[in-house]
Amino acid sequence: EEVKEKEWFIGSIDQGTTSSRFLIFDRQGIPVASHQIEFENKYPQSGWQEHDPLELLSSVDECIEKATEAFLKDGHSKDQIKAIGITNQRETTICWDTNTGEPLYNAVVWPDTRTTAIVRELKQRPGADELKDLCGLPLSTYPSSVKFLWLYRNVEAIKNAYDEGRLSFGTVDSWLIYKLNGGPERGVHVTDTTNASRTMLMNIHTLQYDDKLLGFFELDKNKIKLPKIIPSSDKEAFGSLAYGPLKGFKIAGCLGDQSAALVGQCGFAPGEAKNTYGTGCFLLYNVGEKPVISKYGLLATVAYDFGAGRKPIYALEGSIAVAGSGVKFLTKNMKFAELSAEVTELAGTVDDNGGVVFVTAFSGLFAPYWIDDAKGTLFGITAHTQRGHIARATLEATCFQTKAILDAMEKDSGHKLENLAVDGGMSNSDLTMQTQADIIQITVDRPVMRETTALGAAIAAGFAVEVWKEFDELKDINKLDRTIFSPKLDKKKSKKMFTKWEQAVQMSRGWDL
Ligand code: ADP
Repeated sequence: EEVKEKEWFIGSIDQGTTSSRFLIFDRQGIPVASHQIEFENKYPQSGWQEHDPLELLSSVDECIEKATEAFLKDGHSKDQIKAIGITNQRETTICWDTNTGEPLYNAVVWPDTRTTAIVRELKQRPGADELKDLCGLPLSTYPSSVKFLWLYRNVEAIKNAYDEGRLSFGTVDSWLIYKLNGGPERGVHVTDTTNASRTMLMNIHTLQYDDKLLGFFELDKNKIKLPKIIPSSDKEAFGSLAYGPLKGFKIAGCLGDQSAALVGQCGFAPGEAKNTYGTGCFLLYNVGEKPVISKYGLLATVAYDFGAGRKPIYALEGSIAVAGSGVKFLTKNMKFAELSAEVTELAGTVDDNGGVVFVTAFSGLFAPYWIDDAKGTLFGITAHTQRGHIARATLEATCFQTKAILDAMEKDSGHKLENLAVDGGMSNSDLTMQTQADIIQITVDRPVMRETTALGAAIAAGFAVEVWKEFDELKDINKLDRTIFSPKLDKKKSKKMFTKWEQAVQMSRGWDL
């Protein structure tokens, strides 16, 4: 018997920087089952950050098992699941052996800055200044191409595999899709345009690999197997699960996590924006059907690309490397508290930052500054300073960078944002969201259902299998009971705080002596 439309569900794999999740959404965008697993972030040296690619996969496998079990226990049946979407941490770079499907090294994670010296060298090369017009990204430690170059130069197994023409390269989406499809037997090696737009190898205008970009990074297409770039929504090309409780189920959507969050917030109109406060914090602003190459330190990226004759949509992006990871730094390294939420409580024990500014430049500073050699720096300490002030300054750091990004976005787009839609783990902190409204002096608008990233991937998959056909059908999704934070702080005070921040940013440079 055919499953009725209103009983359709979509599964969504969300592979993030600190955890993996699998959620099952109904057609109203409500998650009915989910499972989440935190995995290990490895910091083998100062500035390095790695994940075990097999652990990423096994955490996803386990989430699928557990969430599906809960879904079935609730009285649903598997045939109600129409497709599976996938969303992932972006830029993180994985190399594996094409013949065996085994990883050749740990995943080099997006905030990793081991490439600082390589970037310095690359900036001297002819053509370095023209890269941004081609791919939308400035040369920095952030994109996958630069991370790959380090791997090629420093890991023998990767150099050998490259030289022998058996090296597969991928971001986390490609890796998971490849393995979920069973690895080398099927050899499904694909990526979507949103993920590919973070490698620095894809031409942002043609949405294909660009020989000039490959040449700049000295990549020989005959030696390195790059994933085929396809739209984010497709009912065949991503293959299907080769094992597990959902064996045979199609993967039909794929979006980089920040793109997915924009889709999950239904930011489908030019001029709409969202800011996601996860491990890092990423503001995406929908600019419509043509990319805008930033003059003020933002990135041009593919927002989403639903295929089937629909035009790809672009975004201007402001990327902040440290947001929730600053909170984690206070809990894990500094032992300020056990839980992230307690850092917000601690910040609430003081009325203001007491003059303390914390430039949380653990990965240098990303947008709009792009200072590779900045280091985390704490200013304004006196004998009056309490842990509460430092907690507050840590939360505020993300709010200040968001303000700097919004200023840049206004200059690039000629448009002033009036409301900021937010989500992500750190948006749970009311104090942070109120501070954000105070610093940008516009309303901050938070949905009740904050799994917008996972929802975005479900939407991409749902479009491919026609669970939804028009964006208009999504207009009521996640709209009810949103919390609005209005600016309360006096404009002058807000401005003064930001001026202090900007001064601190300048003083955080040059610590890579
Ligand atoms: P990701 O997808 O990048 O793994 P999430 O969106 O799951 O990240 O957010 C996790 C981050 O949010 C963690 O770094 C955590 O410290 C932070 N976080 C979660 N809850 C709070 C809170 N109440 N106050 C401050 N930070 C929080």
